[in-house]
Amino acid sequence: MAKKHWLFGEKRLAFGMMRLPMIEENGATQVDIQQTRQMVDLFMQAGFNYFDTAYGYLDKQSEHAVRECVAERYPRESFWLTNKLSSPYFETEAEILPLFEKQLKNCGVEYFDLYLMHALSRNYYSKMQACNAFEVVRRLKKEGCVRHIGFSFHDTAEMLDQILTEHPEMEFVQLQFNYLDMDDPKVQSRKCYEVCQKHDKPVLVMEPVRGGRLVNIPPNAGKLLDDLGQSRANYALRYVAGFDSVAMILSGMSNLEQMKDNINTMLCPKPLTQKELAAMDEVVRILRGEGAVDCTGCEYCLPECPKNIPIPDVFTFMNERLRKSNAPKPNFAKDQGKPEDCIACNRCQKVCPQHLPISRLMQKAKTL
Ligand code: SF4
Ligand code: SF4
Repeated sequence: MAKKHWLFGEKRLAFGMMRLPMIEENGATQVDIQQTRQMVDLFMQAGFNYFDTAYGYLDKQSEHAVRECVAERYPRESFWLTNKLSSPYFETEAEILPLFEKQLKNCGVEYFDLYLMHALSRNYYSKMQACNAFEVVRRLKKEGCVRHIGFSFHDTAEMLDQILTEHPEMEFVQLQFNYLDMDDPKVQSRKCYEVCQKHDKPVLVMEPVRGGRLVNIPPNAGKLLDDLGQSRANYALRYVAGFDSVAMILSGMSNLEQMKDNINTMLCPKPLTQKELAAMDEVVRILRGEGAVDCTGCEYCLPECPKNIPIPDVFTFMNERLRKSNAPKPNFAKDQGKPEDCIACNRCQKVCPQHLPISRLMQKAKTL
């Protein structure tokens, strides 16, 4: 009999709305609402119904896309909607509720099914404590404005153990969890997963494809997976689906093709075979040896940069140069800074969930 996973049962694919298709319109980059609606419809028709957003995603456009593509088109009880309390957008306890009200309004809903304290690390945990945020979200749950509370996490397993010990009322944890990060010393996916099991908390998975890094792999690694006959994302999703405590798997899909592929995989995710697992081990070995910048393209750093440097684009370029010596430099827009404009203020590093040494990497990017 199929396993029941916490609240969600067998339907464990979530539509992460932070990498939606984008188009240029009236001189601005905007969410492609038409394509996003098609993706939402396909997703709902296939029996999935979990959406994930946050205030800052896509330059604050994601919540509005949720309203236009989901909330205004489907009965509220027919879908799950998760939102987050993000540290960069409040400084005091008094600012939390107005932010929450704004999030409800942006999304066009009256409650969130899940509400997460966003991207907890040692620093953000201290800030949430100082602003009494745990108490505020507990109250929101009591009042019915949110149904379940938890947090997403980017730090060590030890830190996670401390938070879950101090806050047993947290119902779940959202972890960066994929086959590349499993034993990564910074991300500590496996150890963090084990801490969740110790505290009996379900795990929601983010970055199962590691921001596309497990799809955009070097040709020799790609051939290993492609020869097995499924898409590269298919192996990444089936890998995380094989863990008992994984209750939901978020995928930040950017077009209809990705949506179709992920749906096909997650309607009935088959366990990986020994042959597939061996190929994936080899992919990890190749990726680890490549020395690429481990940026997931989450864009959390962008609002922090006083020089408006498109940091993830710079890292994409650096990674492309690793594979191809003549990979073209990014086309920086007039209002964007370049790596040489970096003043090493390190504001970006404070919010980077991957703890990347961004200013040092900018120095390197200048020389390429
Ligand atoms: S360290 Fe450089 S890249 Fe980072 S926020 Fe400061 S100026 Fe921008
Ligand atoms: S540098 Fe860090 S914060 Fe910025 S996009 Fe990459 S992973 Fe995200």
